[in-house]
Amino acid sequence: MLKEPIRTSIFDLFKIGPGPSSSHTIGPMKAAFDFLQRANASSEIKQLDIENIMIHLYGSLSATGKGHGTDRAVIAGLLGWQPETCQPDNFTELLKDTEVKYPVKIHENEVFINAKNIVFEKNRYESVHSNTLIFRALSNSNIVFEEEYYSVGGGFIQRKGENVATQNDKEPAFPFSTMNEFKEHLKKQKMTLTELMIANEMLISGLSRKEIFQKIDDILETMHKAVRRGLHHRGLLPGTIKLKRKAPILYQQAKSHASTTDSFMVFLNAYCMAASEENAAGNMVVTAPTSGASGVIPGITFLLRNHYHYDKQKLREGMLAAAAVGFLIKHNASISGAEMGCMGEIGSASAMAAAMLAYCAGKPIETVESAAEIAIEHHLGMTCDPIGGYVQIPCIERNAMGAIKAYNAYLLASSGNTADQKISLDSVIKVMRATGKDMSKKYKETSQAGLALSATEC
Ligand code: SF4
Repeated sequence: MLKEPIRTSIFDLFKIGPGPSSSHTIGPMKAAFDFLQRANASSEIKQLDIENIMIHLYGSLSATGKGHGTDRAVIAGLLGWQPETCQPDNFTELLKDTEVKYPVKIHENEVFINAKNIVFEKNRYESVHSNTLIFRALSNSNIVFEEEYYSVGGGFIQRKGENVATQNDKEPAFPFSTMNEFKEHLKKQKMTLTELMIANEMLISGLSRKEIFQKIDDILETMHKAVRRGLHHRGLLPGTIKLKRKAPILYQQAKSHASTTDSFMVFLNAYCMAASEENAAGNMVVTAPTSGASGVIPGITFLLRNHYHYDKQKLREGMLAAAAVGFLIKHNASISGAEMGCMGEIGSASAMAAAMLAYCAGKPIETVESAAEIAIEHHLGMTCDPIGGYVQIPCIERNAMGAIKAYNAYLLASSGNTADQKISLDSVIKVMRATGKDMSKKYKETSQAGLALSATEC
């Protein structure tokens, strides 16, 4: 029987917003904004004198939220800022001055809040997701309005009691929840991946074909702006690690050795790390599928555009192939580092990029599937253990490694007969889910083990 079909929009998967983390920055900003809207829409608290707002962070948000800018994101959302339109410079200024209090407007009340209103809870809270936020509005020291949210990865949020699968009730034209069902549609309808993805997106988002392509162009442009900025920004990244940006150095090296055999890899490393360093700096990036993994697809598409001279249409179609794989992983496993470790973030990005490379090269759907499967297979069990809770080590280099693995997965999938491939994309996604469940919490975005303990912050 068909599982609940995928109803995610391409533009929920690829979202523009400030770095460094989709689950710890974009998700909390959206949750805070949603709380603000709901509080202002509530007639029950309209006549009350709201005197305070408290925000409680649990799980991975509590463990690594400081390094990921969760506190700034919460303030930004309560100020009515949205990820796509907020100004990165204003965003990074938030909470720098501990004396500043920020006005939050609920009905006729203006409540002033700062870092003291955000509690990084030490105790565990048994809820449906490790990334939990609770917002409370108080009047006369009593809680008069409360909402609980889960930041489920890639900037997606779920409100307590809401089923994420049915948040969007629009029916896709060609419902699918697995790669097998996806391929069946292609075969039965004699259609291409592009046609299927566009037909579904038109119904899910209500956009026309032209508008969808325009939005993909905008997403690609934002990705490539991040790459271009990162290739020229030098100096230290924010935070206590004092990590030096490396992308400009790699770029110079690639240009001076442009004729050597490994220059293609050095260029790709530079492009991926450039976008990833911009993410670590809190600048505008695109979740692909998360902010931590926002260097893989921008790096690959920048390479395809500037070295292989792929045209606009080819890149748009490549993005659709990447989205199809991202949907399948999100639906049947997870793209969240707090649930899957880094295989959910870089592993997913690598699989999406591998599918894109195969599809852009004109390969059949079986090769596209195979490329994605191989990329996931070789990220299984990869831990998430960021040093100091910053999306820097191992995250930045991991984007470059994820892209290189994607390229190799595409090459491996393109040779031989795909019918000989023993593992399907659907099965490896199942394995991914089971592996993520079995992994110790210490390796799922808590900075309590692994690399996070191997280096002292300085
Ligand atoms: S290690 Fe991977 S999953 Fe963890 S924060 Fe870094 S990029 Fe995200």
